[in-house]
Amino acid sequence: MNNLNSSAASGASAPARQRDFMARVLELNRMREVPPAAFVETYGCQQNVSDSEKISGMLRDMGYRLADSAEGADLVIFNTCAVRENAELKVFGNLGALKHNKRRNPDMLIGVCGCMIQQKHIAETIGKKYKHVDMVFGTHALYRFPQILCEALEGGRVVDIEGERGEIVENVPLERDVPPLAKVPIMYGCNNFCTYCVVPYVRGRERSRSAENILAECESAAKQGYREIMLLGQNVNSYGNDLSGGLTFAGLLREVCKIDGIERIRFMTSHPKDISDELIKTMAEEPKICKQLHLPIQSGSDRVLKAMNRKYTRAEYMEKLRKIRAAMPDIVLTTDIICGFPGETNEDFAETLGALREAEYDMIFSFIYSRRVGTPAADMPDCLTDEEKHRNFDEMLKVQNEISKQKNLKYIDTEQTVLIEGRSKTNPETVTGRTEGGKIVNIGCPNLGGCEKDALTGKLVNVRITGAQTWSLTGEII
Ligand code: SAH
Ligand code: SF4
Repeated sequence: MNNLNSSAASGASAPARQRDFMARVLELNRMREVPPAAFVETYGCQQNVSDSEKISGMLRDMGYRLADSAEGADLVIFNTCAVRENAELKVFGNLGALKHNKRRNPDMLIGVCGCMIQQKHIAETIGKKYKHVDMVFGTHALYRFPQILCEALEGGRVVDIEGERGEIVENVPLERDVPPLAKVPIMYGCNNFCTYCVVPYVRGRERSRSAENILAECESAAKQGYREIMLLGQNVNSYGNDLSGGLTFAGLLREVCKIDGIERIRFMTSHPKDISDELIKTMAEEPKICKQLHLPIQSGSDRVLKAMNRKYTRAEYMEKLRKIRAAMPDIVLTTDIICGFPGETNEDFAETLGALREAEYDMIFSFIYSRRVGTPAADMPDCLTDEEKHRNFDEMLKVQNEISKQKNLKYIDTEQTVLIEGRSKTNPETVTGRTEGGKIVNIGCPNLGGCEKDALTGKLVNVRITGAQTWSLTGEII
């Protein structure tokens, strides 16, 4: 087994050295009659999607053809998520299924990377029970993928689960999703240590990219035809706190707004405690910044918020919402909620329902609490049974679905500017896009042929909203 940790720690695998490994793999692949196929499966959040764009970019530059499924692939990479147990179980299940693929094609390589691997007990389980996995590498080793792959191709299992070293590696090749939306990470890691959350342990402390690098990436995306930028970070509002001098997050947004060709800017995620007046003012003043905000509340009970280490009360959170809505009355607001946090009672849950009714979110992302090894909440005792937690969860969805539907109904007969993302995956006769607020709109265009429909991708079109569902709108081009 090759363990790359020591060479990495000595600085032997600096980014420039990775280019040599890429050249070596490319040479090997060029000797094959047909380019080998690689499949990258991504689990979890937008940050992981963005990391997978780098893995795919490196694979492309090493002579791989990117495939849509593991079937027949010569190389499969699972980029994993550790935020909840069900994401981990899915990875283990899918990894088990790959044994059959490997039996049929013994030369196939399998890699597992991302947040799960950064947890010691998971890396050990994969080492012991999933012997068909050839490469195991954590979030901090992403840029060393060419070296890892090169050594795996030369034989033997490669493990690279080194901890954080605090650097940000730039200029890693990138294979973006097709336009119009480009995801641009502005920072990595998190300092907040919410007691339920594994992210600070698997992603490390907050590290901001330099504004120059972020702006250069946005400019290059604009030149390639991307119209919308999504700035990514676990807590974008603390952007720059670790850089001396430099721009605040609001300052960075103002700079991105100046880039020609970029029509829309979004960002996620924001921590309520860090939403500043400067940010609210910037959002309200800059027409390119979408009037949409994802602001996780997690719970409506002050007692639970304290136990979660969220650092705000429900009243403080609602005060921020009031300010935001005063500056941007039509803003689309979404949130995250955890149901069944340890010690949560039915009274606490009633407070959460009250918060949903008070905030009137357009949409929520709700999760049943999942115990994460090594986090403080993992040792806290439960009050509710699993059955009670599931009952509360279902009730929460019922309450929110009604609010979401009512909010969407208000859009009927309005005109919205929609950025078209392409044909609908479920109905190719329609095209789909998003309003400025991020709401999905399905647009039937019976008078347009297939090519004309495809030509709409990346365009901003005026749409009259004709129907409203809980999760989406329908409309017609004006
Ligand atoms: N940095 C972002 C994203 C964190 S993970 C943020 O703070 O919003 C995305 C969501 O997953 C969190 O907002 C939280 O609602 C949920 N989550 C995190 N850890 C969880 C856990 N242990 N169990 C259930 N949900 C969890
Ligand atoms: Fe996790 Fe809290 Fe950091 Fe979000 S802010 S990533 S929930 S620790």
